[in-house]
Amino acid sequence: MAARTGAEFLERLSAARVHVDIMGETLIGGVAEHPAFRNVVRSYAELFDMQHDPAYRDVLTYPSPTSGDPVATSFLVPRTPEDLAKRSAAFKLWADRSLGMLGRTGDYLNSALMALAAAESWFAQAGPGFGENTRRYYERVREQDLLCTHTLVPPQANRAVTASQQAGGALMAHILREDDNGIVIRGARLLATIGPFADELLVFPSTVLRNSAEDKQYSFACAVPGDAPGLRYIAREPMDYGRSHPLGSRFEEPDAVVIFDDVHVPYERCFVLGDPELCNGFYTQTSAVVHMTHQVLARTTAKTEYLLGLVSLLTEAIGIEQFQHVQQDVAEVIMTLETLRAFGRAALADAAPNGYGVLTPAWPPLNAARNLYPRLYQRFPEILRKLGASGLMALPTQADVTGPAGPDIASYLQSATLGGADRVKLFRLVWDTCVSAFSGRQALYEYYFFGDPVRMAGAYVASYDREPYKAAVRAFLDRS
Ligand SMILES: Cc1cc2nc3c(=O)[nH]c(=O)nc-3n(C[C@H](O)[C@H](O)[C@H](O)COP(=O)(O)OP(=O)(O)OC[C@H]3O[C@@H](n4cnc5c(N)ncnc54)[C@H](O)[C@@H]3O)c2cc1C
Repeated sequence: MAARTGAEFLERLSAARVHVDIMGETLIGGVAEHPAFRNVVRSYAELFDMQHDPAYRDVLTYPSPTSGDPVATSFLVPRTPEDLAKRSAAFKLWADRSLGMLGRTGDYLNSALMALAAAESWFAQAGPGFGENTRRYYERVREQDLLCTHTLVPPQANRAVTASQQAGGALMAHILREDDNGIVIRGARLLATIGPFADELLVFPSTVLRNSAEDKQYSFACAVPGDAPGLRYIAREPMDYGRSHPLGSRFEEPDAVVIFDDVHVPYERCFVLGDPELCNGFYTQTSAVVHMTHQVLARTTAKTEYLLGLVSLLTEAIGIEQFQHVQQDVAEVIMTLETLRAFGRAALADAAPNGYGVLTPAWPPLNAARNLYPRLYQRFPEILRKLGASGLMALPTQADVTGPAGPDIASYLQSATLGGADRVKLFRLVWDTCVSAFSGRQALYEYYFFGDPVRMAGAYVASYDREPYKAAVRAFLDRS
């Protein structure tokens, strides 16, 4: 098989019997047509269709090394600067399509699987067969163009103790037992974004939390189909309220608690078992975190470009461009955008092969980007709210624009540059970016999706080599 079309993605989803509890209802399948999911699922289908569009397919696909069929560029193992540039371009094309609002597009975890599979020999440490399992799984996902999500973090019951100590160790998903051909998982993980419509769930170690020796039972990496027997999702209340919400009605990715009710996972789907040390090195020693962050930087750059366009149309619309504090806010968005672009260029310019021959973007600029953006992003909704002011509340719906209030809206809601109808359209987009429930979830997502920024900062400081700078200051102090 090759890169899928949107129809093929929807067809597979329609056949899947994923268990989702949502708003008091239990679904066993039917996700593709449920009102909570149907719009975002179609936005994902559009991304799959782009792979077949003559305008994009040369960037979004490459010939599979096994079948020769076109497969998604996010699976391409980069060996040359051109390969890396192609990966960047493919990430950006998809991210632009959703204005950077879709956080769990397939290219994110395809990038992780690519790096993990290329580091096949690293998995030999986990035991015989694990390297081959990892490579074969990657090839399967690539050839079938499956959509993966992941779940990493323990339930949030008591953060004063380790995951394995919460409620006597029963809460966190753990290996309950092994049998002749696999493992049985029981317990829960905190969240899986897009879980309800992902083809595959990667049950992976945390990117930030460390496992200790007593966490053996909780330390594993494996993959399960979205409709595996015993796997249940409990979805949060949806924030897609219909077409008058320009972003929420297209890009509302569901988040769901993940319950493993004795889920059996065959050995060929296991990549690490009962090994805290290997779980701690899972992303860094294989470079998976670098390739994931490469994708994230393309997405956050696309999102920041959108925000710059949006804030510029807003300030122009109501004639506030000339005020200095407004210019200061717009300058902040521009500086963030240029900072992200500089990180992206530096990461590619200083790329080097890792121990497995994979040309890997430079980590220092990407690591800086992933530590900075969770904070920088929080300013954008704040700036839009400040500049939009009451215009974000003097805001009828599209139904009013075309309804009896239409003439009043045309006259009294005009702006310096726009007629009433167009002003409402623009301000509804601003509102969905900075005031709506959808926008609140976006801000939370940007802050937390890579892990707790506080603990990420701790790991960042600990891993950054500051000795040369300390030595330079000591040398200055010693100067006579
Ligand atoms: C919108 C959204 C989507 C997400 N999607 C996914 C997903 O698809 N898959 C997935 O695996 N995860 C997902 N996550 C979860 C994400 O990984 C976590 O939010 C993140 O790791 C932080 O963990 P937590 O939410 O449990 O916060 P907690 O660890 O409970 O932290 C709560 C607060 O306490 C503080 N705190 C807690 N413990 C400590 C400590 N030891 N030291 C210092 N401060 C501490 C934190 O700084 C924070 O302020 C998602 C999160 C969000 C918000």
